[in-house]
Amino acid sequence: MISKDLRAASREIRSLLHTAQKPLIVAHIRPDGDAIASTLGLGLCLADAGKQCQMVLPDGIPARFKFLEGSRNIRNRMEPGYDLVIALDCSDQKRLGEDLSGIPVDINIDHHITNEHFAKFNLVLPEEPATAAILTRYLPEWGFPLTPAVANALLTGIVTDTIGFRTSNVSPDSLRQTAALIEAGANLSDVYENALTYQSYAASLLWGLALSRLQKEGKLAWTSITMEDRKKAGYSGRDDADLTNQLSAIENLNIVILFNEQNDCKIKVSWRSHSGIDVSKIAQRFGGGGHPPAAGAEIKGNLNEVEDMVLTVTKKYLKAQKSKGEN
Ligand code: AMP
Ligand code: MN
Ligand code: MN
Repeated sequence: MISKDLRAASREIRSLLHTAQKPLIVAHIRPDGDAIASTLGLGLCLADAGKQCQMVLPDGIPARFKFLEGSRNIRNRMEPGYDLVIALDCSDQKRLGEDLSGIPVDINIDHHITNEHFAKFNLVLPEEPATAAILTRYLPEWGFPLTPAVANALLTGIVTDTIGFRTSNVSPDSLRQTAALIEAGANLSDVYENALTYQSYAASLLWGLALSRLQKEGKLAWTSITMEDRKKAGYSGRDDADLTNQLSAIENLNIVILFNEQNDCKIKVSWRSHSGIDVSKIAQRFGGGGHPPAAGAEIKGNLNEVEDMVLTVTKKYLKAQKSKGEN
C-alpha cells in the first residue's frame, strides 16, 4: 500500500516531468548499474517526450555499461539552462559530487533506507530493490511509455542492484516488473552478460592484486584496492570493478569489507553482510549510508588509518550483535 504522502509526491513529480522543457538528471558519484540505468531510463523517456534533457554523471560510466542505448549522451559536466533537477539513486545530496551538491534539487527518486529527503519532492521506496524498479512502476503511470531501450536500461538497474536477482529484497513484485520489462523489449540474457558477467582484462588483473591481500578474522573478511593496484592493472576507473559483489559471495562470513583507495586522500569503504546484520548503521557512523545488507562510506585519511578505524568499529558492532542474539 502506497502512503498518502507518496501518492501526493508522485502526482507532483508527474506534473513537473510533463511541464519541464530542459530537465537535468543526475545520480550518485562512482555510478553503479542502477544509477546509470535509472539516469538513462528516465532520460530516454523524457527525450522521447520531446524534452531537451541533460544526463550528468561526473565520473562517467564504466565500460561494461556502454552497451546501453543512449549511454554516449551521458555527460561529465552540466550545462546551465536546465529548468528541473532530478536526482536518482542518491541518498544524500553530497553523493551527487562537488559540482552538483550545492544546487537545489526538485525531485529525488531513490530506494535507500538512509535517504535524507533532500529535494522538494521525494519518492523514496526502501522496499524496492533498485531505483530502476521504482521507475519501472511509475514511468508508465506518469504517461511515459517503456520503449525497448528504456526497458533494457531499467532491467540493467534491477539486475545489477540485485546481483542477478539474488538479494533478499527480490519480491514477486520485482519479478513481475522484470517480466513487464522483457515484454516491453528488454533483453535479459544480453543485460546479464554485459552488465554482470563480462569484465575487462584490466579488471581481472585488479581483482588478482586485491584478492592476494584478502584477510579474515572470525566471520569478517576484508581487502583493499590501492592506487598502485589500479596503475599496475591498467584499470582507469575509480570504482571497485565489481569486486565487492565477488567478496559478498564468500560463504560462511557475516561481513565483508572492501577498502578502495581514491586519489583525493579518501578511502571508499564498502560493507556487505549476511545473516540479517544491518551494515548501513556502521556506514552511517562514518557519514555514509546504504541498505541493511550493502552500505558504503567515504572516509578521509590514508589506507592504514581508515582500515584500522573501520575494522575496530565493525568488530565491535559484530560483537554487540552477537551478544544481543545470545540474550
Ligand atoms: P557500494 O559499497 O558503493 O556498492 O554501496 C553500497 C550501497 O551503499 C549502495 O546502495 C550505495 O548507494 C550506498 N552508499 C555507498 N556509499 C555511500 C555514501 N558515501 N553515502 C551514502 N550511501 C552510500
Ligand atoms: Mn547505486
Ligand atoms: Mn540502487
